[in-house]
Amino acid sequence: MPVESRFLALLGPPMSGKGTQAARLTQLLGIPQISSGDLFRDNIKNQTNLGLEAKKYMDRGDLVPDEVTIGMVKERLHREDCLRGALLDGFPRTIPQAEALDEILVGVDASLAVVISVAVPEDVLVERACGRRICRTCGQSYHLKFGPPKAPGICDEDGGELYQRNDDKPETVRQRLEVYQAQTSPLVEFYRARGILQEVNGDQTIDDVADDIRQAVNEL
Ligand code: ADP
Ligand code: ADP
Repeated sequence: MPVESRFLALLGPPMSGKGTQAARLTQLLGIPQISSGDLFRDNIKNQTNLGLEAKKYMDRGDLVPDEVTIGMVKERLHREDCLRGALLDGFPRTIPQAEALDEILVGVDASLAVVISVAVPEDVLVERACGRRICRTCGQSYHLKFGPPKAPGICDEDGGELYQRNDDKPETVRQRLEVYQAQTSPLVEFYRARGILQEVNGDQTIDDVADDIRQAVNEL
């Protein structure tokens, strides 16, 4: 493992802008974006056993069980393109996942350099949810009002079709926000206590949030 390998994680509630910011940051840092949500959606698209299992939980707005999630992310982090590091988007989401991540990284002679926590008030998150559209092929996020594509319904990056995620329905979004509070928000204290937490105000324009994240990463 080269000494300059860097592992970072983006932590935040659904709709806080993790995917949007990860897509920008990954280009800047030259390391891959590893999104557990995207990995699950790829498995669902390819109708793998893991995808069929995960879908039951995702459709309800619940977390996929830790052992399934950890195994999937571990396999991904062991691939060649993660030798120089990776930007984790949406993982870890529970304390056991955070502990498992430590072990995975120790196994490749690395550690987590920084966790960026993106904070956004709940009413803003709910408003963002109804306008989110996702590219069917590359997973890029758009917003009908706050971040529209250049041509309606078509991804700027690869021309893929944009769709609304099944779990972006209001009742599922509410459940996902509750799950975040109960199971994921304790990670903020977990990483603060370890001294690697950087908090960013996610309730600004996409460009302003990106500037703050860049600054937080440059301070490392
Ligand atoms: P969002 O970007 O809106 O937060 P994601 O695409 O990250 O949503 O995740 C979608 C769904 O995939 C989650 O609601 C959950 O069911 C599942 N999922 C994603 N990451 C994890 C994880 N680390 N642990 C458990 N479940 C996960
Ligand atoms: P997450 O991965 O945390 O669930 P996304 O990056 O998919 O969040 O963003 C959720 C929705 O909000 C998307 O429709 C995205 O275009 C939009 N969005 C992201 N960041 C902002 C922002 N700073 N202001 C307004 N809308 C945003």
